[in-house]
Amino acid sequence: MIPAPLAAPSVDMSVLEAHDLIKTYEVGRGFFAPPGVVRAVSGISLRLAPRKTLAVVGESGSGKSTLGRMLALIEPPTDGHLSIDGVDVTGVYGARLKALRRSVQMVFQNPYGSLNPRRTIRATLEEPLIVNTDLGPDERRARALDMLARVGLRPEHAERYPHMFSGGQRQRIAIARALMLRPKIIVLDEPVSALDVSVRAQVLNLLADLQEEFDLAYVFVSHDLSVVRHIADDVMVMYLGGVVEQAAKEAIFADPRHPYTRALLSATPVADPGRPRDRIVLTGELPSPFAPPPGCSFNPRCPIAVERCRAEKPALHGEGDRLTACHLAE
Ligand code: SF4
Repeated sequence: MIPAPLAAPSVDMSVLEAHDLIKTYEVGRGFFAPPGVVRAVSGISLRLAPRKTLAVVGESGSGKSTLGRMLALIEPPTDGHLSIDGVDVTGVYGARLKALRRSVQMVFQNPYGSLNPRRTIRATLEEPLIVNTDLGPDERRARALDMLARVGLRPEHAERYPHMFSGGQRQRIAIARALMLRPKIIVLDEPVSALDVSVRAQVLNLLADLQEEFDLAYVFVSHDLSVVRHIADDVMVMYLGGVVEQAAKEAIFADPRHPYTRALLSATPVADPGRPRDRIVLTGELPSPFAPPPGCSFNPRCPIAVERCRAEKPALHGEGDRLTACHLAE
């Protein structure tokens, strides 16, 4: 049987909570120089309830994938607290950590890279059950076939290999594998970015159906706001390892308050091509995390920066769940 989670959730409990999560890496700078420290993620807090989706958006290098790996318990945070289903996972090791890991699974951008090419799909789906449960072969097989059906594949697909499937089918298989241990949370790292546009909507619809069916909470990491619009309940916008804006999806899309969010939104396609849109073109590259700019980390690229922005780092502030890190945000 699949063991019970470590703590029973209460009705109103968040299934995932993070407080002031920090991730730093030491990077060598030559033989005689001391190692440098890169702050990949800086002081992030969030809460996520069952059946809800938090989208984490930002450019490449914003720290969103590092955050995703910490939330999926693949990398430990350098500092801060992380709770899954009410259990603080910080400082948990061994069997307890292994049990907690069953509650949170990850789906990656490239399904071909995350599936073993020498294993049949049935063997891939059964593997987590072999490692984590004492189910017999017949029960494992039945569960694998059942999960294949739930992600829209047929029983005859079970004995085939990953190269025999399309990209969309492979991502369905990766999702099925993530669900085999009935997790409560799935971290999806750019899950549809590598798929054809025509297949994206199908996979997004499948994710929405599975969320309802299994009471799943999703952390949806993406650079693409047009995809986020379809799936998110809340949106967190990251820049250079920190959160610059965080709000319900409707608020972010109707009234973006941070200049970086406005620039990202201005670059997304609109449903009505006749509707005018002022494209905000950001100049310059994302600054190096080795040497972040003083003051607001966005100030070298911000079209409305003022003197204060170069001297003082804005705190994430606002009312309720509507938060912005900008000196000029109303
Ligand atoms: Fe732009 Fe200043 Fe706001 Fe930073 S604090 S986003 S530089 S206006």
